[in-house]
Amino acid sequence: MTVSAPGQQADVVVLGAGMVGVSTAIAARQRGLSVIVVDRREPGSETSYGNAGIISSGSILPLNTPALWKNLPKYLTNTHPALRWNIPWAIANASWVIRFLAAATPSQTRPRAAALAGLIGTSMKLHRDWIVQAEAGHRIRETGWLKAWRGDGLAAAKAEQAALAEFGIRSEVLDRQGISALEPNIIPAYSVGLLHSQTASVDSPGAVVKAYAKMLAANGGAVRQSEIKQVAALDDSWRVELADGEINARHVVVALGPWSAELLRPLGYRVPLATERGYHQHFVPNPARKLLRPIHDAEGGFLMTPMEQGIRVTSGVELTARDAPSNYAQLEAVVPMARSVVEFGEAVGERWRGSRPTLPDSLPMIGPAPRHRGLWLAFGNQHIGFTTGPGTGAAIAAMIGGEAPPFDTSAFSPSRYIA
Ligand SMILES: Cc1cc2nc3c(=O)[nH]c(=O)nc-3n(C[C@H](O)[C@H](O)[C@H](O)COP(=O)(O)OP(=O)(O)OC[C@H]3O[C@@H](n4cnc5c(N)ncnc54)[C@H](O)[C@@H]3O)c2cc1C
Repeated sequence: MTVSAPGQQADVVVLGAGMVGVSTAIAARQRGLSVIVVDRREPGSETSYGNAGIISSGSILPLNTPALWKNLPKYLTNTHPALRWNIPWAIANASWVIRFLAAATPSQTRPRAAALAGLIGTSMKLHRDWIVQAEAGHRIRETGWLKAWRGDGLAAAKAEQAALAEFGIRSEVLDRQGISALEPNIIPAYSVGLLHSQTASVDSPGAVVKAYAKMLAANGGAVRQSEIKQVAALDDSWRVELADGEINARHVVVALGPWSAELLRPLGYRVPLATERGYHQHFVPNPARKLLRPIHDAEGGFLMTPMEQGIRVTSGVELTARDAPSNYAQLEAVVPMARSVVEFGEAVGERWRGSRPTLPDSLPMIGPAPRHRGLWLAFGNQHIGFTTGPGTGAAIAAMIGGEAPPFDTSAFSPSRYIA
């Protein structure tokens, strides 16, 4: 699968082999283009490894909706498990914070939801096809995703259901008995639930990206493991400089997830990309008390997902610099909350940290770089990049081929932030 030639040529070089990059390479290859995807690690080893594995039909409402204003007082205390923020980081990135909050209005929420519904709809179809073609069909569960409230969440559940229904996305409001019927093995801690019934999940997101990369290689694409140093514009093509050589290509796609902004800085683009960091830890499952689907604890802002490695507990959002030292306080705060719902044993393996790449409007950049022909941007997929990788890739591949993308990409245009 790995190519190690010092100098190579391709129609398209994709930088980054997370879910977004690998998906883009697959979609470009399907259009008959020669493709090389480059990453310093094996495919699916970073953010696309450590996420909650949800292929979410209903994640059309990002964090910065009007509901954020209601929750802001509790988040400002910096003690809530769902959201912590680093004060010096927030001051240094005040413009990102202000724009993020400014997007949380009703008038800005509906168009963003519509845009995400298009991206997600395309992505769901592609995932369901590709996961079978990639011989990883055994990893997908079509059991939905349960969001659940311990206290009185009925109004919030109904409001979310109505927002989803506007875009034809099905969900089901459940009471305590309904939740017990759905998840008979959990402790009945929740009084209200919202089942996203069209949502799927996988038991190993990293393994799914690797399977997709293997499928790419089997179909003639190349996967190269190397550190990307920089990209240089030539007359009508690009040179990608690597630690162990270079690649020349007509098209370069930046799909470096939370690392995307720094590669673009030498080209004169200052991308307002922040990182919503998150953590995970695995626990030995109790085979007699099996969890059947991912559960999102609405009050705690964390998730519990049954994975190959055990029960994966993923934490909420930590707004700080991507490479700041880990702070496990949020994860430690939610593990006892998770234990009050799912019976599991000891922790297994290391705690993991990753960064959700987020632009101020919580929409990804999908499209051409404004001032450079043949340079394409595909990043900023925030909390839903595992879901939306395939749609992002399909749209970029269509644009490279000079065709209309499979959904309306106007809201994702890079030129909304960079010129
Ligand atoms: C705790 C948590 C839970 C989440 N849960 C979900 C979920 O359930 N469902 C969902 O849809 N999304 C979820 N997400 C979001 C999702 O994981 C991300 O949006 C997605 O993985 C981003 O994919 P990507 O391909 O853009 O980035 P990445 O997967 O990070 O890929 C970028 C790649 O670029 C490579 N790279 C960077 N710099 C260089 C360089 N200089 N040279 C070579 N290679 C380089 C990296 O090695 C990396 O492999 C979650 C995120 C977190 C943190």
